[in-house]
Amino acid sequence: MIDGDATIFARATGSGRAAIAVIRISGASSGHILKRLAGDVPAPRRAVVRALHASAHGGDLLDRALVLWFPGPGSYTGEDSAELHLHAGPAVIEAVSDALVALGARPAEPGEFTRRAFSNGRLDLLEAEGIADLIEAETQSQRRQALRQADGALSRLYHGWAERLRYLLAHQEALIDFPDEDLPPEIEAGLVSDLGRLLDDMLAHLAQGEQAQRIRSGLVVAVVGPPNVGKSSLVNRLAGRDAAMVSEWAGTTRDAIEVRLMLGGVPVTLVDTAGLRETLDPLEAEGVRRARLHASHADLVIEVAAGTLPADAGTSRLQVWNKVDLAQAPAGWIGVSAKTGDGIDRLEAELIREVVRLTDTGVAPPMTRARHRAGIDEAVGHLQAAQQLALPELRGEASRLAMQALGRLTGAIGVEDLLDSVFGQFCIGK
Ligand code: GDP
Ligand code: ZN
Repeated sequence: MIDGDATIFARATGSGRAAIAVIRISGASSGHILKRLAGDVPAPRRAVVRALHASAHGGDLLDRALVLWFPGPGSYTGEDSAELHLHAGPAVIEAVSDALVALGARPAEPGEFTRRAFSNGRLDLLEAEGIADLIEAETQSQRRQALRQADGALSRLYHGWAERLRYLLAHQEALIDFPDEDLPPEIEAGLVSDLGRLLDDMLAHLAQGEQAQRIRSGLVVAVVGPPNVGKSSLVNRLAGRDAAMVSEWAGTTRDAIEVRLMLGGVPVTLVDTAGLRETLDPLEAEGVRRARLHASHADLVIEVAAGTLPADAGTSRLQVWNKVDLAQAPAGWIGVSAKTGDGIDRLEAELIREVVRLTDTGVAPPMTRARHRAGIDEAVGHLQAAQQLALPELRGEASRLAMQALGRLTGAIGVEDLLDSVFGQFCIGK
């Protein structure tokens, strides 16, 4: 178990070559440590230059650095905190780290600063996850989504649901306390329809969450079709490099080959699958099995044909007819030639249109993680059960369980077991 009261420190900037390295410090003895190291505690939130001295080794000069003091509870962690902007030489960082340890601080665990911010009520679990995603964001759509969550959009939505439930519960209890007398029968009917509306909102949110999870984790697009129609050549064209193995012989692509690219601002993994056909070759059969698996997990399937229309042409939204340099595309198929590049622009435009459709989250804040889906699934389950129950007492109990499920999403209740997994995903220094 890590010591939650200790004053912690960590390098907050990257470990590559750089001019400046920021070390942040947080905990009750931050002020004391700063005073010993820099000679004084500067005015809050003002950058000042200070000579840093080790208390050991005869007060050795360690660096001349920019120092910032953030007193609690208004700091990021809610505790007394400081930042040291050092010259980024490894020896400087090492010497200052040694001095900090000598003064009683210890290196922070991954995510420990943000975990303390959570413990001190500076942000809730959903906002903390948003910050983790913001640090990892590679695309602009990921950045926008993460920032929204870090700013509390999702927290406000779930909090609003919990409030509606609390209101329903209060009325539910009034029904129990005053049976038949003071309350007109419409009230009970009104409660049931309020419950129905809340359920509808939750179900709509669940449906939209798929889009948001795709933005966060990227989209999988499977390229399927019989051997030799040019699937690998097409993937190479789209990827703009020789990522997949192309051959003259049917059944060369034995395993799924993946290519990562950006389409419409969303990371997309194109999976070039082995031909979907029966085979006796065990190695190829394994490839076909994986191809089917990939196709069934994909967010989008591109079906490729060339020369002859497949008997079992599927229902995929993107049907691509390759080798138009040899034979014209039938109606309804996007004609391309992986060889000449003909039609590739149009295919790319259609692909982007599909990616945008699959990741469009509208205006409401979307859920972004499996954890959110599980929590809302659970709340929905309890509320659906509540709808079926005739007795207000039982409905009240089911509603209470639903409220608990929502509370665990923001971290308001019963989340000790969750914290390690949420904050363990952070980098050290955040
Ligand atoms: P896969 O088995 O579906 O992955 O097909 P490949 O990409 O390995 O291609 C099979 C053969 O078709 C190779 O010889 C390619 O050079 C050829 N090929 C691919 N695309 C085209 C095209 O647009 N036109 C022509 N004429 N040949 C193509
Ligand atoms: Zn292939």
